[in-house]
Amino acid sequence: MTLLTMKFGGTSVGSPEALAQAALIILEQSQRWDRVVVVVSAMNGVTDALTRGAVTAAAGDDQTYRAIVTDLRARHYGTVASLFSPDGERARLLAMVDEYLDEFAAFCRSVHILGEVTPRAMDAITSLGERINARIMAALLRKHSLRSEAVDATELIVTDDTFQNAVPLMDKTRDRVLASLVPLMDSQNIPVVTGFIGATEQGVTTTLGRGGSDYSASILGSCLDADEVWIWTDVDGVMTADPRLVPEARVIPALSASEVSELAYFGAKVLHPRTIWPVIERGIPLWVKNTFNPSCPGTRIVPELESSPGAIKAVTAIQGMSLVTVEGRGMMGVPGIAARTFAAVASQGASVLMISQASSEQSICFVLPTQAVSSVVHAIEKEMALELARRDINRVWSLDNVVIVTAVGAGIRSTPGVAARIFGALGRAGINVIAIAQGSSECSISLVVSSELAVEAVRQIHSQVILEN
Ligand code: ASP
Ligand code: MG
Repeated sequence: MTLLTMKFGGTSVGSPEALAQAALIILEQSQRWDRVVVVVSAMNGVTDALTRGAVTAAAGDDQTYRAIVTDLRARHYGTVASLFSPDGERARLLAMVDEYLDEFAAFCRSVHILGEVTPRAMDAITSLGERINARIMAALLRKHSLRSEAVDATELIVTDDTFQNAVPLMDKTRDRVLASLVPLMDSQNIPVVTGFIGATEQGVTTTLGRGGSDYSASILGSCLDADEVWIWTDVDGVMTADPRLVPEARVIPALSASEVSELAYFGAKVLHPRTIWPVIERGIPLWVKNTFNPSCPGTRIVPELESSPGAIKAVTAIQGMSLVTVEGRGMMGVPGIAARTFAAVASQGASVLMISQASSEQSICFVLPTQAVSSVVHAIEKEMALELARRDINRVWSLDNVVIVTAVGAGIRSTPGVAARIFGALGRAGINVIAIAQGSSECSISLVVSSELAVEAVRQIHSQVILEN
């Protein structure tokens, strides 16, 4: 028995045309596979709108959320009206849209009265876009004479109570998924599951973090032991670089799990960063495909690549970073400075993206988002007050407006000279590199450059290192 799990992202289900196209893809695949499970996102922009409604209501504005209700009603009504005839499911779907938008308005009203929106309330509110869309998609499949039912993932994906970024409890989730999706599929139904959302064991709605529908698909695929998981999006696959920065960027045919995680970590918005693990652990191949260009094969993500042509596969840049340096001659050979430095960083809830320490031990530098910098520098100064007074540490300082440029590829490990080629390319272009780090996984090399040079650095690495392979 073959089983395919497919997820359709926001733009792939964001208009009547896109929904119709997605339905055709499902129809086609349902003839090729014994079983198909569909996961859908909200229409693109809907989660943002719901979030904005809640946030503005909490801030005392009782107009914006009403305007959002009007907009969302118009958009969903328009979609339903153009896909369903009056003698079909149209009236029922319009009533469903009203029901969820009324719920949204009621939530926002309470938030407005309370003057705050808790993470828990936020999850209840932002879950509504997916709930609406799963129902529209299931009805659309029925219109194509398939049997289909919408399923709220609150019934399937059991999570902890980290609202807005919940962690699935896989064993409990697997039990529920098997108990409710398998009987549906046994009766020839295609379940259309809401992406992004789950619920605690007590049944309180949670979300898996923005972009979490990818993760939902992978969780379900893993629980069902799917043969493959396909993520349908609006680009041809994972690209060698952001095509907005590098017009000649190409699709990467195959990537290993560690390469994709590295890319996701360093800012390529391809997949929700936690997506790959549930499927990779079970050896299930994951594909990223383009709804609007379905004949393009897309990118295949596998646990490990046998051989990987070309050492560097992709280059990314993350903007909005600052470089913090803790420096002083008295740090040499003193144990615990790094531990205390990073404990101070952690005390501010900041996440470090890159670390480098020269072996002279006269400085530790690391990169983190600029918005966290001033509180982090203060925390380190406080932690190191004694060392600063003794001049063992001379200063703690930050350099803003820097960008981390990362070149990713598992082939770095087995190909000598990759770093030389990267730095050669940058050197010839006169780009100064401020700091360098290579993870011991040897799957990426990251370097820090000042932000006005970032695009050029990405382009040089792309043209001289990736395309030259
Ligand atoms: N709708 C959610 C978001 O916009 C989840 C997703 O699209 O993956 O973040
Ligand atoms: Mg997405």
